[in-house]
Amino acid sequence: MRLAILAAALLATTAAIAQTPPVAMEPASQWHQKAREIYSRVVAIPTVQGRGQTLAMANYLQEQFRAGGFTDITIHQYDVVRPADRAATLILRWPAARPSGRKAILLMAHMDVVDARREDWPREPFELGTADGYFYGRGTADDKQGVVAVTTALLRLRAEGFQPDRDIIVLFTGDEETGGRGADQAANRWLDVANIEYALNADAGGGAWLENGTSVGFGIQTAEKVYQDFTFTATNPGGHSSRPRPDNAIYALAHTLERLERHRFEPMLNDTTRAMFTDRLRTAEPALAAAIRRWLANPNDGAAADLIEASPTEVGLTRTRCVATRLEGGHANNALPQLARATVNCRMFPGHDPAQVLALLRQIAAPDNVTVEPIDRARPADASPLREDVMGAFTAEIHARYPGVAIVPNMSTGATDGLYFRNRGVPVYGVESSWGISPTDERAHGRDERNPQRSFYQNVDHWTGMIRRLAGPAR
Ligand SMILES: [Zn+2]
Repeated sequence: MRLAILAAALLATTAAIAQTPPVAMEPASQWHQKAREIYSRVVAIPTVQGRGQTLAMANYLQEQFRAGGFTDITIHQYDVVRPADRAATLILRWPAARPSGRKAILLMAHMDVVDARREDWPREPFELGTADGYFYGRGTADDKQGVVAVTTALLRLRAEGFQPDRDIIVLFTGDEETGGRGADQAANRWLDVANIEYALNADAGGGAWLENGTSVGFGIQTAEKVYQDFTFTATNPGGHSSRPRPDNAIYALAHTLERLERHRFEPMLNDTTRAMFTDRLRTAEPALAAAIRRWLANPNDGAAADLIEASPTEVGLTRTRCVATRLEGGHANNALPQLARATVNCRMFPGHDPAQVLALLRQIAAPDNVTVEPIDRARPADASPLREDVMGAFTAEIHARYPGVAIVPNMSTGATDGLYFRNRGVPVYGVESSWGISPTDERAHGRDERNPQRSFYQNVDHWTGMIRRLAGPAR
């Protein structure tokens, strides 16, 4: 999942502080050429759920890694959603050449993509297209560029004789967009998380410029909200609809959902969102900026937090949010309903105890005797600490290409494969350097997905530099 880069971009009112970089770029090294060759091959593999193609992509990448001298590669196959639907996840280990005693780092990305239909696109979605300085195709942004950058960086570092001083583990999953089973099993079975110090995720992070040249900055994703669905169920003896009873399952559920709609959870703030909102002050319009200032000065100022939450660009960032997403009920046009049920999707703030959320939802439902049950179990995950080494490496690499741009920790309201590792206590950092023009280039999951050529090649260099800094001797 790769969401809109940084929503606050839409509110930016400040004058241009930098020029938008040109999007076009020719390959500037043999490794750029290599990256482009791999990109072209993997975009052409339609790794959409139901087509069984992630194994083909994993096999191709395995060949590339083997040709580059890597030997410890495993491809796991597993069922996703429907038994007939198989996905593949690739795991590669590059053992430390000169062990420093430091724990391993995990590099992660996903090979699968959201479906794209030829008739919806102005071009073939599963073919790497180039036009106007962009690469086009499904997955060019989410997330095949991440897979290609990590792969090419490792091929290059090995070819250049780089000697990692800690184990490097690569995880390319095959069902991030649909199931997350690859990441789930990797975090819980296939990998020894006790030996992983932290993960770098190529499925989050990145930067943006506005069309007027204003730099929005580069985000490093250090937190994501926790996903949990609940059913709200009202039952009733029912009867003939010509003789309505005073109690009614549909009305009971409706009254409960109205209370849920009005309910606001307590605002919460962590190091990541504090840094994020502090940076927002640069670009937010005056009323929003004033509310942010009040809230940061006094996190108990719930009214200020409510104002921020009401802004379309900040929604979901100040607290846990729950919203009704599905509805069913009744069994005949001429019968009183015996059952009415809604699905409520919650995105819990990191650190918010799921048991507390459940207790609160039950309180909201109690006056109408509506029962609330969780679907599946939540995977609580705290925000990852703003580690100096990772923040420092990210900042240095971004500033090497874009001196002085803002570097901003951020929290995703959605979820990535990273949540399974955060749930196991492994900090995860979304550290892509890919960037685009906001909002026109924010097309992940959408029509005519694209990636600036310059963003693509720079991301390859960025990952090479990140791995050098974080798995090499102190510089
Ligand atoms: Zn993604």
